[in-house]
Amino acid sequence: MVLRPVKSRAGRDGLQFNIVNQGVELGTYVYLFTGGEPLVRKKDIIRLCEEHQDCVFSTFTNGTLIDEAFADEMLRVQNFMPAISIEGFEEATDGRRGEGTYEKILNAMSILKKKKLPFGISCCYTSDNAEVIGSEEYFDYMIELGAKFAWFFTYMPVGKGAVPELMATAKQREMMYHKIREYRQTKPIFTVDFWNDGEYVGGCIAGGRSYCHINANGDIEPCAFIHYSDSNIREKTLLEAYRSPLFMGYHDNQPWNDNMLRPCPVLDNPGRLTEIVDKSGAISTDYQNLETAKEFSDKCVLTAAKWKPVAERLWSESNRCMACGKCGTDSR
Ligand code: SF4
Repeated sequence: MVLRPVKSRAGRDGLQFNIVNQGVELGTYVYLFTGGEPLVRKKDIIRLCEEHQDCVFSTFTNGTLIDEAFADEMLRVQNFMPAISIEGFEEATDGRRGEGTYEKILNAMSILKKKKLPFGISCCYTSDNAEVIGSEEYFDYMIELGAKFAWFFTYMPVGKGAVPELMATAKQREMMYHKIREYRQTKPIFTVDFWNDGEYVGGCIAGGRSYCHINANGDIEPCAFIHYSDSNIREKTLLEAYRSPLFMGYHDNQPWNDNMLRPCPVLDNPGRLTEIVDKSGAISTDYQNLETAKEFSDKCVLTAAKWKPVAERLWSESNRCMACGKCGTDSR
């Protein structure tokens, strides 16, 4: 692999400043920014888009900083697509993201739609809002507003202050599984269900298998929801991080379950993450309030146990012979 280091301000050969160069060398052409609010750095994001025309950039954003000028920049560079975070209708969205956010989101969507710029939405479903997020009314309204794609994430109790009661129930996760598949046949919007689409990507994609996450401190983490690391971009190349004990723990153990509806080493198979974090010596990268992998996993045990029989039924049903769908023949 050929690296192209830029001038160093700190660390080894300016490694932290050439992540996209390193990624492209390894075959990675899609980059997503998470928050906080990534668009506080929108000028820098546009610069990246200019410099890497062979890549696509996206961001999860609350949409409040999308204005006419930024939309014009998006039109100019043509390789940036935002995913606007929205948790249902006005009350639910403002309840989570602050009063007035929903109005600003509608304004941002209207600007993007007017300029024919593709954009999507990002929805976190919880025990509180799953029925709204999975409703036909909500899907239709998002399509009417101009959304072309939608990410669906289920609430994960990440961090010490997280509330496990907000995790979607097994019934709600099953409802999302059915609704999203149903709408794929009937609605003009591309959807990605981060937890229920494992069957299309061979289960968990984290740990460098198909993606990884880099936090604001430069720690290279297996996944945006897994805040443990044994590598930092100031000390290691991406390739070195992919070969680190933590990432090799993912590599050696994926898939975490033969049932692709139970893909996650913490949400669906609690305890598996703890094993590889402990073995690798990775540390918590939650700098406000350190949480061990075991503490995190323990919060998922009950939900995982309730999801297991539902996932087994769905997995067995989805693998029946497609000829009639009734006879129970295993098509695998
Ligand atoms: S670690 Fe869990 S949340 Fe992350 S990609 Fe794997 S299955 Fe998904």
